[in-house]
Amino acid sequence: MTEHVLVLNAGSSSLKFCVYGRLRHGPWRAEARGQVEGIGTAPRFKARAADGKVLAEQTLDASVRDARAALDALAAWLRTAYAGARVLGVGHRVVHGGSRHAGPAVVTPALLEELRGLTPLAPLHQPHNLAAIDALTERMPGVPQVACFDTSFHRGQPVVAELVPLPREIRSAGVQRYGFHGLSYEYIASVLPQVAPEIAGGRVIVAHLGSGASLCALRAGRSVDSSFGFTALDGLCMGTRPGAIDPGVVLYLFQTLGMTAGQVEALLYKKSGLLGISGLSNDMRDLLKSTDAAAKLAVDFFVYRAAKEIGALTAVLGGLDALVFTAGIGENSPEVRARISTASAWLGIDLDTGANRAGGPCISRPGSKVSAWVIPTNEELMIARHTSSLLGLD
Ligand code: ADP
Repeated sequence: MTEHVLVLNAGSSSLKFCVYGRLRHGPWRAEARGQVEGIGTAPRFKARAADGKVLAEQTLDASVRDARAALDALAAWLRTAYAGARVLGVGHRVVHGGSRHAGPAVVTPALLEELRGLTPLAPLHQPHNLAAIDALTERMPGVPQVACFDTSFHRGQPVVAELVPLPREIRSAGVQRYGFHGLSYEYIASVLPQVAPEIAGGRVIVAHLGSGASLCALRAGRSVDSSFGFTALDGLCMGTRPGAIDPGVVLYLFQTLGMTAGQVEALLYKKSGLLGISGLSNDMRDLLKSTDAAAKLAVDFFVYRAAKEIGALTAVLGGLDALVFTAGIGENSPEVRARISTASAWLGIDLDTGANRAGGPCISRPGSKVSAWVIPTNEELMIARHTSSLLGLD
């Protein structure tokens, strides 16, 4: 009999899902993935098989306005597509686990209360993640759930890496560097011993370059620092977020330009980064195709910031053995990989242009002092594995 684990990633307007299945105690394999998108505006449901074949695609009733209704739509599809199958557990991506959770946790009423208390630290994501847990608790009360945090993998970093240098009373209100994209980095660290055993125990920088972008410094597979800080606004230039900027700019926006908190939030999360610089698009593909000078500047800045931060994290690691590219841009753009690797050539990266064009996994020449790699990330599989392990299904 086939057993299943459901992975959910709930955002403000979408509920992404992935169904994992296995034959008794075999490895978990993704069988279907998809999403309810346009929640509250023009809801649609889409599901694909692992090979990309479309399994379902439909416009949903406009009454699909929240996580509860989205989950009902997903459950209705699961009941027909997986009639008679058993869902053994549900794993959720939860953006914030605070300073306490260094790993995933089984959902209990006490955990939920604790996670609700972290909402001010991630107001744009945490409420939606928790709404999906609430909806599932209500609709499928017998199914155990696991919360997998984007912050957990970074716990255990040196004190100086987590510190935000403000007075103690501000820090005790939760102001510290948490780091994010942790499930992605944890997945990469988990596959390094198979994919690239020669670097798994060494000093590695992983570049997660997607619409959100960050770097993580790994020593022997553990996070010692990352470019994201208190929020996912820090560090690298992103699709619509600026990355690190002088906090004096934010004061200027409030005090001199008279912007409201809502306007500043929208500026920093939705209108800056590649979109803000180019005035054209937040999508790297559009910018690489464009001949516009501002689009070119956006790509130049993206590469400049990544290379600068790679230098900083190399200093943290006391040298570098390997650079790993992952996520949408990192996995799919030979041009961006080549440009970042060339800008980091001083570290000893000798790029193999043919291997880079072919997509790796190893994209540096034999004998390169620092090797370079392309390794696809898989946050959903990481969540499925955690869910299975915490619920005692392994
Ligand atoms: P998310 O953070 O939303 O999970 P992804 O990791 O899926 O993001 O990355 C999405 C981004 O990857 C897109 O916005 C696009 O800029 C970029 N991307 C995808 N394919 C390519 C490609 N072939 N070349 C350049 N950029 C790409």
